[in-house]
Amino acid sequence: MTIMKIASFAAGQWVAPGPNARPIHSAISGAQIAEAGGAALDMQAMLEFGRNVGGPNLRKMGFHDRAKMLKALAMHLGKRKQELYDLSFDTGATQSDHMIDIDGGIGTVFVFASKGRREMPDGDIYIDGDIEQLSRNGTFLGMHIATPLQGVAVHINAFNFPVWGMLEKLAPTLLAGVPAIVKPATASCYVTEACVRIMLESGILPEGALQLISGGTGDLLDRLGAQDVVSFTGSAQTASMLRSNPNILKNSVRFVAEQDSLNASILGPDVEPGSSEFDLFIKEIHREMITKAGQKCTAIRRIIAPETHVQNVIEALSARLEKTVIGDPRAEDVRMGALVSAGQKQDVLEKAALIGTESALVYGDPDDSSFTGEVDAGAFLKPMLFHCQSPDSATVVHSTEAFGPVSTIMGYRDIPHAIELANKGEGSLVASVITASGDVAREMALGAGAFHGRLYFNNATSMKESTGHGSPLPHMVHGGPGRAGGGEEMGGVRGVLHYMQRTAIQGSPDILTAIGNRWVPGSTEIEGPSHPFTRKFGELSIGETLHTKPREVTLEDIEQFAHFTGDTFYAHMDSDAAKRNPFFPDRVAHGYLLLSFAAGLFVEPNEGPVLANTGLDNLRFMKPVEAGDSMKVRLTVKAKTRRTDEYGEVRWHVTLTNQNDELVAEYELLTMNAY
Ligand code: NDP
Repeated sequence: MTIMKIASFAAGQWVAPGPNARPIHSAISGAQIAEAGGAALDMQAMLEFGRNVGGPNLRKMGFHDRAKMLKALAMHLGKRKQELYDLSFDTGATQSDHMIDIDGGIGTVFVFASKGRREMPDGDIYIDGDIEQLSRNGTFLGMHIATPLQGVAVHINAFNFPVWGMLEKLAPTLLAGVPAIVKPATASCYVTEACVRIMLESGILPEGALQLISGGTGDLLDRLGAQDVVSFTGSAQTASMLRSNPNILKNSVRFVAEQDSLNASILGPDVEPGSSEFDLFIKEIHREMITKAGQKCTAIRRIIAPETHVQNVIEALSARLEKTVIGDPRAEDVRMGALVSAGQKQDVLEKAALIGTESALVYGDPDDSSFTGEVDAGAFLKPMLFHCQSPDSATVVHSTEAFGPVSTIMGYRDIPHAIELANKGEGSLVASVITASGDVAREMALGAGAFHGRLYFNNATSMKESTGHGSPLPHMVHGGPGRAGGGEEMGGVRGVLHYMQRTAIQGSPDILTAIGNRWVPGSTEIEGPSHPFTRKFGELSIGETLHTKPREVTLEDIEQFAHFTGDTFYAHMDSDAAKRNPFFPDRVAHGYLLLSFAAGLFVEPNEGPVLANTGLDNLRFMKPVEAGDSMKVRLTVKAKTRRTDEYGEVRWHVTLTNQNDELVAEYELLTMNAY
């Protein structure tokens, strides 16, 4: 059998493994299938290539261009995923594991592509939050912006998800505009390398955006600077060693860590054995024990059930585990494959033995080696379920992560006790609670939220559509406090901001408008050559403003609107009742009447480039309008976002003022305008 030579991609060149390359073995057969590392990579050249070529290339593009690039990348990977499936079996993964790793990774890139288009500006500066009023007259304001870091992101990944583990970090990094150097775990790096080749060969990424280290990182971390970031997934021990690198400490290099986690799943006190929610609890635990043979950062290590139901859980879970076909992951009926390597199997056995010092083994046998297929020399291991009878005094079950198909059940007396046990893990990525009770959920969220990066509630209502305890979603934050590393990844745009610098900006309205390319109230208004609704998307400038003539609001208007719409609320119709209301001096105009009159004042009725009104944001009514008052409108182009080649979205800042120039209402109007 030929041994695959797993190369690195450094400073634009593929570099083959060197003489001291590390052997990589098949998880199924134990035979050597590949080798990686041992080449003398020039880490400084890699960093400079990223910083001087990749970064500038990515920063030439805006968020939307990079989002489009990610979408193209995801589509391209989708077409080639079979190659990755074929390779990945040797990591011990089944076809359903591939769906999580490979399809899940591609899906994550799609989500970031879509979030980049929908939630980030069509430009290169991200505005974080609202404008801050720093002065009485509004001539000095504040805002927060985020711009891409000008260094390199170093991604050090764990062995368990060679594709998703890379893509969940790469998508937000590239969307931010930062180049990456990816270093996969050696045990499964052949899958990552194949995926990187597919991405590089596609020509979709600009030069320098992506480099790969197969094997060791040499002195890379000693060369990082303040504009670089390290994102790490793996063991707490390695994380602690790497984050205490003197150079990383000296330069305050951002270090995002996702490491060991004693995740828990709690059966709510309201769930009875035999119910569909009890079955759901068992199903979720079983899935987490067997998926990736339990090698998941989010897998359920501790099962926390009411003391009265512990025996029911053991019986139901054991019955399900007993039916699970374990063996060669290429066989169709196999539900659980192998651990990634013999070393990993040994590690899990040692950790399980440690857990066994304070818990009884109630299902499984570490010496049982009856598996499906010709797999004698592989890293296969049957699931093991422990029961810890004294979880309050136990320490190992709350601190030892056996990174395989191993879980421990423990009983709780009441909700505070369940929370106390869940929190004994001292920081986890996820805890799940199966309950139909909002009160239980709220108590858990308040008591356990601070200890867990994610709380997953599930019950009969959500179970059909729920995504699973163990699935980190690109929309939601992934990471956790304390033992889990203290880092945070993904969470939509939040994950992109980890690769950007947030800067507080203070200055005049015009300065803020110029920086953010978003009109800030108080900035100079531009008078256009004609009504803005007659001009195309590309012809409108930020700050272009239309002032309408005034219109008087009469009592007849108010009554007609009330009877026409059916909104005869007393504040519009009954003078005495309105006066008793602390907000109104007398009968007042409907807010919606004012909005309708506003549209009547600012629209240009003829067919033109405005295609549709797609919504209003941030609507506020500030001052009531009585019969006899008059109102006028100011309409300003606040921001523009390209949507397709045919049209784009214009965000208008709209204010309604009365005859005394007092602000009556304010909102943002969204229209789609032709190019
Ligand atoms: P490691 O911590 O050993 O390795 C993680 C990554 O760090 C790998 O890419 C590894 O590369 C790299 N690495 C190790 N040493 C260095 C170094 N000195 N400099 C730079 N990079 C380094 O974790 P594993 O992936 O081997 O998994 C081991 C254990 O980690 C598991 O048994 C489990 O307990 C835990 N783990 C926890 C996860 C979680 O999120 N909860 C996820 C995955 C693992 P290389 O492979 O080349 O050594």
